Amino acid sequence: RRQHGLERRHVILAKSSAFRSRTQRFRTSVCFSSRTTCETPGPPPDPSTFPPSAYEPRPFFRYELLYQSKKSLARVGRIHTPHGIIDTPAYVAVATNGALKGVTFEDADKTGQQLVFANTYHLMLQPGADIIGEAGGLHKYVNRAKDKPFITDSGGFQVFSLAYGSVHEELSTGGELKRASKGGRSKTSHSNGPPVKVTEEGVVFKSYRDGAEVYLSPESTVQAQKKLGADIIIPLDELPPYHIDPRVLEASVERTHRWEARSLREHLKDVREQAMYCVIHGGMDRTLRKKSVDYLTSLPFDGFAVGGSLGKSKGELLDLLDWLMPQLNENDRRSKPRHLLGIADEPSILGAVKQGIDTLDSCYPTRISRHGTLLTRQGKINIKSGKYAKQYGVPVDPECGCPVCEKYDRAYLHHLLKAKEPLFIQLSTIHNLQSIRGLDTFVVSFKKFALLEVEPLGVEFDCVDVRRLDVEQYFVYTFQFTVHFPLAKIKYGLHQLRSDPSTTIRGENPECHYVYPLSAGAGEEIELECRS
Ligand SMILES: [Zn+2]
Repeated sequence: RRQHGLERRHVILAKSSAFRSRTQRFRTSVCFSSRTTCETPGPPPDPSTFPPSAYEPRPFFRYELLYQSKKSLARVGRIHTPHGIIDTPAYVAVATNGALKGVTFEDADKTGQQLVFANTYHLMLQPGADIIGEAGGLHKYVNRAKDKPFITDSGGFQVFSLAYGSVHEELSTGGELKRASKGGRSKTSHSNGPPVKVTEEGVVFKSYRDGAEVYLSPESTVQAQKKLGADIIIPLDELPPYHIDPRVLEASVERTHRWEARSLREHLKDVREQAMYCVIHGGMDRTLRKKSVDYLTSLPFDGFAVGGSLGKSKGELLDLLDWLMPQLNENDRRSKPRHLLGIADEPSILGAVKQGIDTLDSCYPTRISRHGTLLTRQGKINIKSGKYAKQYGVPVDPECGCPVCEKYDRAYLHHLLKAKEPLFIQLSTIHNLQSIRGLDTFVVSFKKFALLEVEPLGVEFDCVDVRRLDVEQYFVYTFQFTVHFPLAKIKYGLHQLRSDPSTTIRGENPECHYVYPLSAGAGEEIELECRS
């Protein structure tokens, strides 16, 4: 595998001379390996200097396991946060500047969006963490519903994108999966590549807005995230590129461990009902990944995020998760939630959910929607294509159920995009946000792993017929019923139930609609209340 990786590297390096020169530029702009290793800062602090890692669950934050697949690591659960529940597995939409592009939070929340990601880097530079803190935190500042949670990152990812943006760009042409999908990257890539200086203390970078020097340390990112006040926060980490000398990667992982420990210590001084996830690093090096898992799981973080370079193909990503995730399922580690940073395309969602990932963030579904790519149960369609110009009365996806599919057809959406109407962005984003939760990838994963084994959240009955069996004094109800799962509603065809003789029915064919919460568990009798 390693030899194969080296061969691939040669091919990519040889692909264009432009890439070589850009690579050299990033080497000169980042003071990285030799200087900082000379400082020999030593190993990260011993876990015994922290409270025990198993002291959770906290009263304000916990993961509740509803169902664990017996066939894979896939699981269904709920993350309880100070701002409501996250039903998992779940897609996490990205609101880089504290706003979703083209839609309101209400629009998104109506599609079932719960957790939303906001980027500390962008908010630090505009409007500034102080402003949001003075306003009373993100929820108040953006006026989001009190029962919908936020997660913020450390800002480290965007800072390192400044340094490695050129490499990312090169790799992205080869289809690398990376955290760069989090938005704002194009804004941050100055033509000259602004310098980023990494030391043991932290990182100094130039603001993409006005060129001012900004200092970010493991402590200052936590202070900024305290002001933002998200439910889940992230410690400072370093994001080395995919192509990296193994010794430089090792030094980087060790520095990241020291930084994450410092961020955690700063957080524990003043928790403020925020949960902190660690970020597991190590790139594609499994020895370093294991070291990262072992060290970070020994600290009292509230959850695990998987970050760093996750390979340059879906295959590499899924191979890595296949090997990594069982380690996060050992012992009491499984009682904490797991997040995959920056990846949420359909095949990766399916693969990652199978490996026990609970939440995934990426601006992918909302970014592609703005360019006309719409997700449907039959696969992606590009509404820009002329073949949709006359599809009057045909919704984007007849099974979607989003407000856009209920009201508008493909012909009109095609026109809106061609005419560059801003309304297109709103409508297409609402549709994709709803679709990403109802996609075959999710539904298939439910059918495959959960449907037959999981306890659904509830069953909705629609009575279509009631007949009386005179001899037995029984009623036979014919129902159409819908089972509600955390991510999907699955409709079943007609099903008959037989009533108790004591049931009173008014009318021969009463309409019956009943939602039954299955909190009682399996085996208990369902009590039906029909009204005519
Ligand atoms: Zn739709």
